[in-house]
Amino acid sequence: MAAVIDGNKIAQDIRNEVRQSTIELKDQNGITPGLAVVLVGEDPASLIYVKRKATACAEVGFLSREYKLPAETQEEELLQIVKKLNRNKLVHGILVQLPLPKHISTERIIAAIDPVKDVDGFHPYNVGGLVSGTPLFVPCTPRGIMELISRSGIELVGKEAVVVGRSNIVGKPIALLLLAQNATVTMCHSKTKNLQDVTSRADVLIAAIGKPQMIKANMVKEGAVVIDVGINRLENGKLAGDVAFDEVAAKASFITPVPGGVGPMTIAMLMKNTLDAARRISITR
Ligand code: NDP
Repeated sequence: MAAVIDGNKIAQDIRNEVRQSTIELKDQNGITPGLAVVLVGEDPASLIYVKRKATACAEVGFLSREYKLPAETQEEELLQIVKKLNRNKLVHGILVQLPLPKHISTERIIAAIDPVKDVDGFHPYNVGGLVSGTPLFVPCTPRGIMELISRSGIELVGKEAVVVGRSNIVGKPIALLLLAQNATVTMCHSKTKNLQDVTSRADVLIAAIGKPQMIKANMVKEGAVVIDVGINRLENGKLAGDVAFDEVAAKASFITPVPGGVGPMTIAMLMKNTLDAARRISITR
């Protein structure tokens, strides 16, 4: 039976560490990390995420600013806000909540963020840095997954890692991070043939698909580490991951639950990225 990795606890540990480091940064350099979150429109899920981010900022002792703009906001107006935040010395991290309304180019907005304040790690400069192994910021969910793995004492060198899903925010960055830790990485997607053959080879299996309970026990190797990134709302209102938890847990060595696995790590790592941004600015100023 697998050990269940407790993402709630690890995320809380990280927020406690960030809070302690924030006190030290204030005492030693007089700097309070500041995060600006920009939300355009009223997407209900985005409203919840933005609120959670503000709560986490308060918990760790950051300054947080929310910019809630109407859905009709024009791209040029949003660009001007981002540029103003780039110049604002009290703001160390800038996060534009996605998705943006369709009339705004996400690429243009992300590219306008100063890469040293790009705490989501989505700016092309940081994406390139991730490929070459020198990013300023790693996207929060993949960075959180790496923390779950390392804090659970799981060794990656020489292991077969299989990532199912190739999105820019989860699948691709996690594959690069696993590679940087010397795992042998295979990426799968909707056109992969014989998916079961590939996933069954994995010592470490990452599911970032968005299909409830798609990964069954017969797709998993005995003793594998299984990380479930999926967040799916079932018809009965409950949340489910991409992994059939009970049957896979009986076979795996480690597994993350949904909820309470990868999910809580994302905001904890946003706090860590913002702290890193403030520290970096405190060194270079
Ligand atoms: P995307 O929809 O952007 O990507 C899904 C990926 O899964 C695609 O690469 C797709 O392949 C692949 N895929 C779909 N169906 C299959 C299949 N039958 N076999 C193999 N691969 C398949 O999703 P995201 O990466 O944004 O998110 C994935 C999941 O993670 C979602 O449930 C999301 O809610 C969750 N999530 C959780 C976060 C958190 O915990 N904080 C953060 C971000 C996401 P193709 O490219 O060929 O279409």
